[in-house]
Amino acid sequence: MAMFSEVKAIYFDLDDTLCGYWDAAKRALAETWEVVPVPGFTPEQLHEAWVEEFRIFADALKTSHWYEIYLSQGSITRTQLMREALLRLEIDDAHLAWRLSDEYGRRRAQYLSLFDDARALLDDLKPRYVLGVITNGPADIQREELRDLGIEGVFDHFFIEGEMGEGKPEPRVMARATQAAGCAPHEILMVGNSYRHDIIPAMDAGWRTCWIRRDSDVPPTSRTGKVESLPEGGPAPDATIGQLDELRELLGIRTQLAP
Ligand SMILES: [Mg+2]
Repeated sequence: MAMFSEVKAIYFDLDDTLCGYWDAAKRALAETWEVVPVPGFTPEQLHEAWVEEFRIFADALKTSHWYEIYLSQGSITRTQLMREALLRLEIDDAHLAWRLSDEYGRRRAQYLSLFDDARALLDDLKPRYVLGVITNGPADIQREELRDLGIEGVFDHFFIEGEMGEGKPEPRVMARATQAAGCAPHEILMVGNSYRHDIIPAMDAGWRTCWIRRDSDVPPTSRTGKVESLPEGGPAPDATIGQLDELRELLGIRTQLAP
């Protein structure tokens, strides 16, 4: 009996679960520092300032006055983050911040792509399960990602932070998604890369959980360069995988043979 044979509905996180967001961000940033040079600073210095500011900004975002703006439109807070990264280096230049942010945003959207095994898996799951996406981020950026990745049509339900006005790990998000799935909580599976945002709230909602961990991931919270680890004493997810492909076996579905 497969581990998740009772599952009827599957919710996926989007960024760094289905698509390589941080990979695209890193590549876009690296190119941005080359294309829009900042006199007196190396790309490494700029990158470090940005990552440090990213951590602070992301942590404070939900309780700051920027949150409401961020929910509807990603470009304004993206530019503000860039502005504050420059200020760390004592560069007070709003126009330069805007140019860097604009370049970065366009390149990130351009490089964002599905992980190799995502498309085939979603196509296999589509006729068998209720499928949904639960993603944090601005309404415009997340919708654009889904469209550009060509996977909007795969999902029955969308729970986007920017559209709801609140995001994971808020329990109300999982409650809404449970209702939409139309089955019992233990028949719902959450697949995501963030222990804190995907796994914990899904467990609290009574769902099954599958944590996907890749080496490429959002900026690590420590300087060790390691991806988020299971906090000591934290409850373990039902399953931990390194690739989306592994879900087939856990669900007990056969791989579709190529025609
Ligand atoms: Mg994610």
